[in-house]
Amino acid sequence: MTTSLSALSAAAGNFLTRPHLLYIGGRFVPAADGRTFPTYDPSTGHRISDAAYAGTEDVDNAVAAARHALEGQWGNLPAAARGKLIARLADLIEEHGAELAELEALDGGKPISMTELVDIPATAEHLRYFSGWPTKIEGETIPVSSPDTLTYTRKEPVGVCAQIIPWNFPLLMAAWKLGAALAAGCTVVLKPAEQTPLTALRLAELIDEAGFPAGTINVLTGDGSTGAALVDHPGTDKIAFTGSTSVGREIGARAGAQLKRVTLELGGKSPNIILPDADIDAAIAGAFNGIYFNSGQACNAASRLYVHRSLFGEVTDRLAAMAAGAKVGPALERSTQFGPLVSAEQYARVRGYIEDGLAAGATLKAGDVPTASPEGGFFVQPALFTDVTADMKISREEIFGPVLVAAPFDELDEVVRRANDTEYGLAAGVWTQNLADAHRLAAKLRAGSIYLNSWAAADPAGPFGGFKASGMGREMGHANLDAYLELKTVWTTLGN
Ligand code: NAP
Ligand code: MG
Repeated sequence: MTTSLSALSAAAGNFLTRPHLLYIGGRFVPAADGRTFPTYDPSTGHRISDAAYAGTEDVDNAVAAARHALEGQWGNLPAAARGKLIARLADLIEEHGAELAELEALDGGKPISMTELVDIPATAEHLRYFSGWPTKIEGETIPVSSPDTLTYTRKEPVGVCAQIIPWNFPLLMAAWKLGAALAAGCTVVLKPAEQTPLTALRLAELIDEAGFPAGTINVLTGDGSTGAALVDHPGTDKIAFTGSTSVGREIGARAGAQLKRVTLELGGKSPNIILPDADIDAAIAGAFNGIYFNSGQACNAASRLYVHRSLFGEVTDRLAAMAAGAKVGPALERSTQFGPLVSAEQYARVRGYIEDGLAAGATLKAGDVPTASPEGGFFVQPALFTDVTADMKISREEIFGPVLVAAPFDELDEVVRRANDTEYGLAAGVWTQNLADAHRLAAKLRAGSIYLNSWAAADPAGPFGGFKASGMGREMGHANLDAYLELKTVWTTLGN
C-alpha cells in the first residue's frame, strides 16, 4: 500500500517544505549542533522529512527562555489576557483544522476521518475550556483564631514546566498539557515524541501567530534523551509526562530525587465487563471500539473483555466477524477505519505479543500473525484472543495495539476480583441495564475512569488519570489546575 504526499492539501504540503526547527524564546532555530532526525509515514514506511534534534544546549536555552517569560512579560500579564491568548490559540487550531488533521494522519498513521472528527476538534475544545480558568483561580481568607491577624492564600504558578508527550494523540496530548499549565500562569518546554514531531511544530507556528510573549511556550523536538535532559535540568520546576509506565517510573524517581512537582499519565490494561442483562448490540459496539479505536494505541484501551458466560459465544462470534471485516488501510484514505501502527518498533512489539499468545495456548479467533517484515506500512488486522488465562502475558501486559483478550465469567464478585487483578488502574467499563449493579461495580473497580454503558467518554471538564501504576495526578477538569499551582499562605499582623 502506498500513500502519496501529493494527496495533501497545498497548506499541508507547504508546511512540509519548510524547515522543521526548534521553537525557543519566540524564534524558530536549528539545533545548536545542527543535528536532525527523520520522521516517517507509518502508512508507507517512507521518510516524510527531518526535524531538528534538540540537545543539551537547546534544552538550556529553552528553559532559560521559559524562565525569562515567567519572570517577565507572561508572568506580568493579567489573568484575563492569559485567557484571551489561550482562546485565540483554540481559534487558530480550528481555522487550520483541515491542515492539522492531514499532518496528524500523515505523521502518526491516524485515519484522516478520525483526526478531523476527534483529534482536532477535541484539541481546540480543550484549550477553549482552559481559556476560561485564569480569571477563576482564587485564594481564600482563612478564619484564624487571632483577631489581629489577616490570613489569606494565593495560588501561584508552579513555574517552568517540562511537558513530555507521546505519539498516539500528538496534538491532543499537547493541548492536554498546555491548557492547564498556561491557565495557571506557568511557562512550558514541550517535548513531542520523536515518531510524531510535525503537528507540534505547526502548533508552535500558531502559538507564535496567536501572540504569546516570547518564551511562554517552547517546543523541542528530539528523543528520549531530550526528555531526560528536561527532567534533570535544575531550571524545570515541574514535569508532566504521558507515556509508558516504565519511563514514567524512571521520571517519577528522578523528579522525586530533585523534589520537583510531577504528574504522570501512564499505561493501562483496562477491563470491560458485559453483564447478562446488557443491551448486547451497544455492548458489542462499545467493546469493539473500546479496543480497536486508534488501532489499540490508546492508554485507556478496553483491552481485557469479561463477558457473562451466557453471552460469551454470541459476543465473541460477533466481535470476530466485525474484526475480520474491519477496513485497515492508509491513514489519508477516507474509507480507512483503522490505520497502521505508528512505527516499525510498535509493529514488532505487537507481533511479538500475538506470537506469544499463540505459544501460550490462547485461540486467535480473529486476526492473524503479522508478517515479519511489513511491506508498505505497519498494518495489523484487529485480533481477538479467547481461551486465555490470567497469567498469560497477553492478559497482563499493555500491548498498545489492536489485540483484545476475552474471557467468560459467572459471578459479579468474581469478575470484580479478576478485573482488579492488575498493576494498572486507568479505566474500567460495565455494560448493564441494572443501575444498582452498575453503581456497585463503579464503586468496587479500582480505576480512575469508570465507563457505564460507554467506553472512553471524555470532556475537558472531566478529570482523567490513573490509580496504581497508571499514574499520578489528574489531567482535564479543574483538578488539573492544582497540578500547576503552588498554594501560598500570607500572614498579616494587623496590630491593635
Ligand atoms: P515512551 O518511551 O514512554 O515515550 C513517551 C515520551 O517520553 C516520548 O516523548 C519519549 O521521547 C519520552 N521519553 C522516552 N524516554 C524518556 C526518558 N528517559 N526521559 C524523559 N522522556 C523520555 O513511550 P514509547 O516508547 O513511545 O511507547 C512504548 C509504550 O509506551 C507503548 O507500547 C505503550 O505501552 C506506552 N505508551 C503509553 C501511552 C499513554 O498514553 N499512556 C502513550 C504512548 C505509549 P521519544 O519518543 O522521542 O523517545
Ligand atoms: Mg511519523
